Amino acid sequence: MSVKENLEKVKVQINKACENANRAPSDVKLLAVSKFHDVSAVEEAIAEGQLLFGENRVQEAKAKFEQIRLSHPNVELHIIGSLQRNKVKDAVKICTCIQSVDRIELLEEIEKQCAKIDKKIDVLFEVHTGEESKSGFLDFESLHEALKQCSEGKFCHVVPKGFMTMAPFTKDTELIRKSFSTLKNYAEKLKKEFSNFELNELSMGMSGDYEIAIEEGSTMVRIGTSIFGERQY
Ligand SMILES: *Cc1c(COP(=O)(O)O)cnc(C)c1O
Repeated sequence: MSVKENLEKVKVQINKACENANRAPSDVKLLAVSKFHDVSAVEEAIAEGQLLFGENRVQEAKAKFEQIRLSHPNVELHIIGSLQRNKVKDAVKICTCIQSVDRIELLEEIEKQCAKIDKKIDVLFEVHTGEESKSGFLDFESLHEALKQCSEGKFCHVVPKGFMTMAPFTKDTELIRKSFSTLKNYAEKLKKEFSNFELNELSMGMSGDYEIAIEEGSTMVRIGTSIFGERQY
């Protein structure tokens, strides 16, 4: 199957899931995860009108998207993979959103690097909601602390937009559902308390579980394999 056919199929599935959940399809954005796939695969997706992409690794993303932007300046890139401090400098230059903010130290570095280039950047807070995932804020308290520091004005180049999670890799759909509902639950509480921010984004759902994520309130699904095929590591 081609990227074009895969994209069409995924969009049909998203619309169906929205219908089942009584949600408007326009409430769920599709982030195409292009890690390990080359520029030509990304360009196939762009040709179908896909402009929002996600990448895990900064070096790979930089190489690919600097080239892609020469002919498609309007593509938008989010960094979704766990981020080392020394990669933040390049990350903030190439993306509009870092979805994998999982510690306060990272907020400090993002602030520092964004201040240097006078750029504001959107962030999502990654939350650990499932047994097997390794990254993300581990509990509500640490997440709350990060938002509190943001609201105190410590990171004026950082724009908190919401939350991201990865469900555990399991066939147990109830565990997956629980992971997503935990994120939603945290988000609802924090939205109320930190109403000075617009914490509306709930980035959850991947190729194997996005229908469940949409039922649980996802506003952005991150899909790689179902669009681009299996990754060759
Ligand atoms: C790779 C990756 C995805 C996409 O996964 P697929 O199963 O290929 O759809 C989504 N989110 C994150 C954080 C990823 O690392």
